[in-house]
Amino acid sequence: MAILPIVKYPDPRLRLKSEAVEDFNDDLKSLAQDMSETMLDAPGAGLAAPQVGRNIRMIVIAGADNDEDFDDRCLVLVNPQITWSAGEQTYDEGCLSVTDLNEKVIRAQEIEVKAQDLDGKPFNLSADGRRAVILQHEIDHLDGVLFLDHISQLKRDIYKRKMKKMQKEDSDE
Ligand SMILES: [Zn+2]
Repeated sequence: MAILPIVKYPDPRLRLKSEAVEDFNDDLKSLAQDMSETMLDAPGAGLAAPQVGRNIRMIVIAGADNDEDFDDRCLVLVNPQITWSAGEQTYDEGCLSVTDLNEKVIRAQEIEVKAQDLDGKPFNLSADGRRAVILQHEIDHLDGVLFLDHISQLKRDIYKRKMKKMQKEDSDE
């Protein structure tokens, strides 16, 4: 078990399309363990493999059940796909890879997801509310999409300028 370093925006690895998992081996299980530990330590409500520098289609989310009070149990989804969605909700999102930014994002209110567990066994999951937001956010990461892509161009530009300035200040020190 280990806490993994989190890849931060604008690292280009966050923009890659991740590959489907085909080998359900011990490496995958230990990566899922490390990702869960890294997420809980951060703390965050979800984490996708590309955020720890592995471009494969696996995410972990906090809380084993679909309820509002997330505990420290984690749910692992391998090769997740949204198969159905309905409604609309606006939620204030942040991301462990995007420092110092929270913005409202519009997403589906309810979703159904199909995925595989760490042994490759398929399962389906329904979610609504906050949990549906987290799943949509994490699944986006597997296609190189960040929540930044869902906010207005203006807000995105302001954030990019702020990041450039911070990076410049760091290198001036
Ligand atoms: Zn994220």
